[in-house]
Amino acid sequence: MDYATLLKESGLKATFQRMNILDSIDKQGHMCVDDIYEEVTKVHPSLSLATIYKNIILMQENGILVEVPIAGKKSKYELAKTDHMHLICTECGDVEDMSCLETTDKIFHDLTQKEHFKLNKRQVNLYGVCEACQTQAAS
Ligand SMILES: [Zn+2]
Ligand SMILES: [Zn+2]
Repeated sequence: MDYATLLKESGLKATFQRMNILDSIDKQGHMCVDDIYEEVTKVHPSLSLATIYKNIILMQENGILVEVPIAGKKSKYELAKTDHMHLICTECGDVEDMSCLETTDKIFHDLTQKEHFKLNKRQVNLYGVCEACQTQAAS
């Protein structure tokens, strides 16, 4: 992905640290600020957590990044993609992307239309325990 173009099209300057943040998140899928900090400071050791956080918030406000709230843990961030659902493990904080099905789309559409609510964006987060954590708990 061309992060420089992505940033410019969203009205932001394509700085190296921003491109680096986007690159890290893109590789991992979903990352919390601490993980992003750890990754990005490998390349830019002088960057502070506050600076990285400020850039993340800015890119979130400009629609490049999306916040994924994790119950009881720090939020994770992902690149804005087509609408999808999340399976979020409340034990390890793992986030799994799941594409929306036609049936789920129809349900949201029907439900919101009934309330005369104009649906623009949606993020469906399903919280539970992932397979790995279930196996661990059983052993
Ligand atoms: Zn888990
Ligand atoms: Zn996602």
